Amino acid sequence: MPAREPRAVDLRIDARFVIPVEPSGTLVDHALVVDAGRIVALVPSALADAEYAPRERVTLPEHALIPGLVNAHTHSAMALLRGIADDVPLKAWLEEHIWPREGRFVAPDFVHDGTLLAAAEMLRAGITCCNDMYFYPDAAAQAYEQAGMRAMIGMPILDFPTPYAADADGYLQRGLAARDTYNESPRLAFSLAPHAPYTVGDETWGAIVVYARQLDLVIQTHVAETAHEVEQSRAQTHETPLARLDRLGATGPTFVAIHAVHLDARDVDILVAQGCHVVHCAGSNMKLASGAAPVAALLAAGVNVALGTDGAASNNRLDVLDEMRLASLLAKVTSADAASLPAATALRMATLNGARALGLDERIGSLVPGKDADVTAIRLADVETLPLYDPVSQLVNAAGREHVTDVWVAGERVLDERRLTRIDAAALTSRTRMWQSRLA
Ligand SMILES: [Zn+2]
Repeated sequence: MPAREPRAVDLRIDARFVIPVEPSGTLVDHALVVDAGRIVALVPSALADAEYAPRERVTLPEHALIPGLVNAHTHSAMALLRGIADDVPLKAWLEEHIWPREGRFVAPDFVHDGTLLAAAEMLRAGITCCNDMYFYPDAAAQAYEQAGMRAMIGMPILDFPTPYAADADGYLQRGLAARDTYNESPRLAFSLAPHAPYTVGDETWGAIVVYARQLDLVIQTHVAETAHEVEQSRAQTHETPLARLDRLGATGPTFVAIHAVHLDARDVDILVAQGCHVVHCAGSNMKLASGAAPVAALLAAGVNVALGTDGAASNNRLDVLDEMRLASLLAKVTSADAASLPAATALRMATLNGARALGLDERIGSLVPGKDADVTAIRLADVETLPLYDPVSQLVNAAGREHVTDVWVAGERVLDERRLTRIDAAALTSRTRMWQSRLA
């Protein structure tokens, strides 16, 4: 019987370790086979020759291949405000430092340039998808397209005027117009992004719920970030912010609760019963002294918890490898249990759980045939990452974003041996310096 001809495919990546996340565990000496932007197979390297004839071949003998990291909450354009006001409590930070500058400078060019800067930083950190929330989502969409990065872009909604929109209806209409323009873009998705329960009133929440159900959109919002927010809500409505949103019909399997730091037992019950998602922003919560979300308890209760950096102004790194380590450490401290949030859980939160929160888990979040080839390669053969006993533990506890070498989004290599293939790095740094002199 004649041997079957090997199948022609676009790309084969051989790596020393492959950590597909689904199923858990580490494969040794495997090949990831990609065609037309999707994962075709994950097979032992020794068997791949007979099966596949790749047009391009990449060999990574000292690397771990993981699903592209998902940054499930950020304000990308705020990369331009990184480090502008540190060591300040949240209220003063927003009211005295961030909002006045946003009022003066935020416009489409600011958002485009800031988002491109953030995308460049994230791709070099192995992040292939982010969940963004900021003004001028159309300018952000343009930057993600330029960078080749996947993004869920929030349509921002507030009940007070900014240069971007005059009232809640204005915000909704501008956001929906941006969605109409970019909705066919294969790497972009859109969600409704009311800023927070305390900046959006009941009537507007009602409209948001109607749009979300009609258009099948994710609702993402900051909720229960500070103790002050919860106290104020209790004083005004005799309920927690999350209970109020539940009463208004906003919760459900497409509801993403960002931060969720200060929750009571009933709040946790709501998250479980409604199948809501939580985005844990450990670095930002620590930096702004907001507190520690009860992540171990949420995971134990069955809530899907993803990881986010929040904006670069309150972190100051858009670095999900760092967030994995912070989340793991913070959970151990708050639960007084060193077994809390182990490395494999942290990696799952940073990949598949993020994809689930955004409703993208059919397409990304694990290295499974049929999914889009969003893939990150991390070198584990340097002085910081040797000796190597457990690749997953090494990724979470020892490796840094500087060890990320290559990144593919939908099978396209957007980072090639640490060089961004779509972004002119020199032009980006000179634009960023221009903004620095204007904003200072
Ligand atoms: Zn935020």
